[in-house]
Amino acid sequence: MKKAKRIIVWFRKDLRLHDNEALTQALANSEEVIPVYVFNSEKLMGETLIGYQKTGKHRAKFLLESVAALRADFRALGIDLVIRFGKPEEEIFELAKATEANWVYANMERTQDEVQVQNALEKNLWSIGSEIQFFRGKMLYYTQDLPFPISHSPDIFNSFRKEVERFVPVRTPFDTPQIFPKWSTAIEVGELPALTDFGHQPFEPDERNYLPFVGGEAAGLARLETYFGERHLEQYRKQHLELQGLNNSSKLSPWLALGCLSPKLVCTRIKAYEDQHKSNKSTQEFLLELLVRDYLRLMGKKYGKCIFEEGGILGRETKSLVADEEKLQQWIAGKTEQPLINACMQQLAAVGYLSAKGRQLVSSYLVNDMHVDWRMGAAYFQYILIDYDICSNWVNWNIVGGVGPDPKDDKALTIENQQKKLDPQGEYLARWLTDSLQGA
Ligand SMILES: Cc1cc2nc3c(=O)[nH]c(=O)nc-3n(C[C@H](O)[C@H](O)[C@H](O)COP(=O)(O)OP(=O)(O)OC[C@H]3O[C@@H](n4cnc5c(N)ncnc54)[C@H](O)[C@@H]3O)c2cc1C
Repeated sequence: MKKAKRIIVWFRKDLRLHDNEALTQALANSEEVIPVYVFNSEKLMGETLIGYQKTGKHRAKFLLESVAALRADFRALGIDLVIRFGKPEEEIFELAKATEANWVYANMERTQDEVQVQNALEKNLWSIGSEIQFFRGKMLYYTQDLPFPISHSPDIFNSFRKEVERFVPVRTPFDTPQIFPKWSTAIEVGELPALTDFGHQPFEPDERNYLPFVGGEAAGLARLETYFGERHLEQYRKQHLELQGLNNSSKLSPWLALGCLSPKLVCTRIKAYEDQHKSNKSTQEFLLELLVRDYLRLMGKKYGKCIFEEGGILGRETKSLVADEEKLQQWIAGKTEQPLINACMQQLAAVGYLSAKGRQLVSSYLVNDMHVDWRMGAAYFQYILIDYDICSNWVNWNIVGGVGPDPKDDKALTIENQQKKLDPQGEYLARWLTDSLQGA
């Protein structure tokens, strides 16, 4: 087949060279590849349901670092990463027009706003005789390998697991491309924006953080190697639901959320670990969490915009929750009656990250003790999380709100008991609570 002259690769939540199907295919099918990243003004500066900016400072910084790292990688390979700021459907269309690109290749997104953007771009491209082609790359599994269509994905996690885990192989990750043909046309590559362009002031990292998260593929790969190479995985089953620590869990979520790391690569690393040190309850538990991630994504695909609505996936209200702005602000500021909740919320505000157990505690408390609309909590997480992932966040919040796919999952937690169990010496409270915020 004759190669296309030029293909644009639109980077989205796949900010990596390894295991990048769109990039690999573009290289194979064209004489020239033009990688581009568009800082989506609506995603960065638009407002959430509760009026907060959609992307808070922690994630904005991590994103900037990740895009800068990707640009440096392309420059080292003799080409560049084109950078734009605005609406992807317009910016990429203009780039395709200017460079007379035959195709735009991109990894597919499935959630409401993202689909609208990719559909609008596709329509624009048709007007200049160019087209868009989509590839996969966010999940461990390919939907086409699953033994059921998305519309029949089991709603109960255990059923999903039984049908998938043993029977569907995880495909081998694509190699990192090493050689890129030089561009034969002049392209305005664009400047990397600054944090202030997104309405945030530069800030110093908080020294209390267990891991200073730095964006980019190399940093993600380095964390992967540290966590597995130093065998912290061995303690995963025992420790991953602890509230604090550097290695109690992998802390890979920010890199996975932006696609600096591919889940298939992480899986391959676990398999290599198992070959070396044997499969055990910890390696199995870790793989299970990656499976949960896929399951939540499939629930997002199956139920579409329902995951953002009050009745959620179930399509009905199950608890009497109120859109109480005052209580929401107490929760956000860490000024509730519960020091443990306050410490968790303080950690979250300070660094944009909270352990899995911390997330379970604060979300359960907002819904089951404060009786606040679960969507307000989800919207705050959307703003604050460094590892915000649309499906992981909204479907997890559906579950807490009692409107998730498997209602059995919805369990209220008794905070006092949890505090005794998780922080008997009060170390966690001492680390994250400031005096003025010990309780309301
Ligand atoms: C209300 C609520 C909201 C959440 N929002 C997000 C979110 O926006 N983004 C996000 O990545 N995770 C979210 N989680 C899931 C989970 O808390 C984080 O993935 C985990 O704490 C990240 O830390 P880690 O990388 O050390 O996880 P590890 O325990 O080391 O797990 C490895 C990886 O598995 C995946 N994973 C683990 N647990 C879950 C889970 N319950 N759901 C989905 N994926 C999981 C993550 O990609 C994680 O990086 C949410 C959980 C709750 C209860």
